[in-house]
Amino acid sequence: MIIAIDGPAGAGKSTVARIIAQKLGFLYIDTGAMYRALTLKALERKIDVNDTAALIEMARSTNIDLINNPDSSLKILLDARDVTGSIRQPSITRLVSDIAKIKGIREVMLGLQRRLGRLRDSVLDGRDIGTVVFPDADKKFYIDAEFEERVKRRYKELKELGQNITPEDIENDLKNRDNIDSTREFAPLKRAEDAIYIDTTNLTIEEMVNKVLSYIQ
Ligand code: C5P
Repeated sequence: MIIAIDGPAGAGKSTVARIIAQKLGFLYIDTGAMYRALTLKALERKIDVNDTAALIEMARSTNIDLINNPDSSLKILLDARDVTGSIRQPSITRLVSDIAKIKGIREVMLGLQRRLGRLRDSVLDGRDIGTVVFPDADKKFYIDAEFEERVKRRYKELKELGQNITPEDIENDLKNRDNIDSTREFAPLKRAEDAIYIDTTNLTIEEMVNKVLSYIQ
């Protein structure tokens, strides 16, 4: 069984996807983390974001593994190195959407995401899961929330990670990524016609999880 969860950053989709995967005993595949891991590698290798050919070449020779920990957290391995703690840094967040919009990069990630998703029952979250990666997913959700609420949640999350950021930084980041992710040519962020739309603005995490589970069970 494949459960696809799409939506913009800060709407709660990763939290819901992770908890639901654990409750159902499914594999959790955080596709945003994959794009972030690639972005980290590109930054470390000082590859210019406009050098599409070099970026695609790099992606083709990169190994990304997602390890589901028993406590429902996720470990991200980039070429066998644990990069879980590095991929949420502002330097990565600033660049990731520019790298994720490249067609050849998406093709490499698509192959990997489909391979992983077919290994077991899985919950995948991202921007194009229900539209492109698994258009025939068993259940599709589009999880959204009002912009101000998304800013608030992301601010709290990153503060808890110890980042030195302001709400304005978050506003700018979300606006920038929403814009690039939803207007790009290949696999833009949009609601699949058959996706269940959930507005989480006024929902607690528990309420979000129960709502999604009620549609699955
Ligand atoms: O989910 P997260 O916010 O970590 O994703 C980081 C970025 O990765 C997104 O802003 C988007 O540019 C890209 N992404 C994507 N397709 C996906 C998942 C993430 O383009 N399926």
